[in-house]
Amino acid sequence: MNHLVAFCSQFSEREEQEWLKEISPLLHNVNIIPFYQLTNEQKKDVKVAIVANPNREKLAELTNLQWVQSLWAGVENLLKATADSNIEIVRMVDPMLSSTMAEAVLAWTFYLHRDMPKYQLQQRNKKWKQHPLINQCDRKIGILGLGALGKASAKKLLENGFSVSGWSRRPSDLNGVTCYHGKDGLVRILKETNILICLLPLTNETKELLNRETLSILPKSASLINFSRGQIINEEDLLYCLNHNHLKHAVLDVFDEEPLPQTHPFWELSNITILPHISAPTNMSSASKLVAKNILNYLKAGDVPAAVKREIGY
Ligand code: NAP
Repeated sequence: MNHLVAFCSQFSEREEQEWLKEISPLLHNVNIIPFYQLTNEQKKDVKVAIVANPNREKLAELTNLQWVQSLWAGVENLLKATADSNIEIVRMVDPMLSSTMAEAVLAWTFYLHRDMPKYQLQQRNKKWKQHPLINQCDRKIGILGLGALGKASAKKLLENGFSVSGWSRRPSDLNGVTCYHGKDGLVRILKETNILICLLPLTNETKELLNRETLSILPKSASLINFSRGQIINEEDLLYCLNHNHLKHAVLDVFDEEPLPQTHPFWELSNITILPHISAPTNMSSASKLVAKNILNYLKAGDVPAAVKREIGY
């Protein structure tokens, strides 16, 4: 018997076809059907869907949906879109994604560690000036979020000689990393951090966690990398801290509004590096294998993979 899986996304038809071409050969006896091709009868039969930014109303038409497999790691929008239901959300947890993120974290940490923004500015002003070099072991890196991405990034930074601390909700134990948790832990990690890396999920608790008060705890001239979600930082407060030289530089891959509006003040600041949400894109090939494995397990044994906990939001 052929099983039915819906594919609900806001991809273009071409992108959707690319995903189907990658996943379908891995799932024999499974019909993966784009939402717009489902008949009303089929909509009632769908128990599992592969999703990427699905439309809320469309998802609600799948009245017997039990769980969705997200192609993305961040699920704050999916949680909102399914807020009135008990649909289980399985997010993308892919070692390839973690490795891509760890590489981005390392690259941009070195960018800040080796004062690249300063030398870029000097070159523009035809200025020849050498600054003292700091050893990696004397550079304190603080990672907010020690999940799939935070752990891989911490390991990569340690391998490259940096001094690494991390912060999570519950106590963590990571070899070579000074681990903090809870409110007191946040103050402690911020106090000792030279380069702060944000890899937290966006939840009710983390929204605007980084604001004028918390950013002011960082030592003067600390820098910041945000690779998780824009709304974890209060953007006005970040501007204040950068403009008043409390923070030296910010590398931002994510923003409150994306694409970043043309009129946004961030574009004007030389001590902000703007990236267009590219630190760790989902890898279609490895993600498809994971999606297929999760769906096959479910179809064979009825096992829904570990899902997001709605009450905590990640
Ligand atoms: P994850 O495995 O769920 O890890 C989340 C980490 O954050 C955990 O260590 C968790 O603590 C900690 N945390 C959550 N709420 C907290 C709180 N209130 N206080 C302290 N710590 C808290 O998530 P992930 O896979 O690493 O992904 C993190 C985020 O990265 C995603 O949600 C997504 O938004 C973003 N992302 C961005 C890109 C990009 O290209 N820019 C790509 C992929 C993902 P516990 O360990 O105690 O649970």
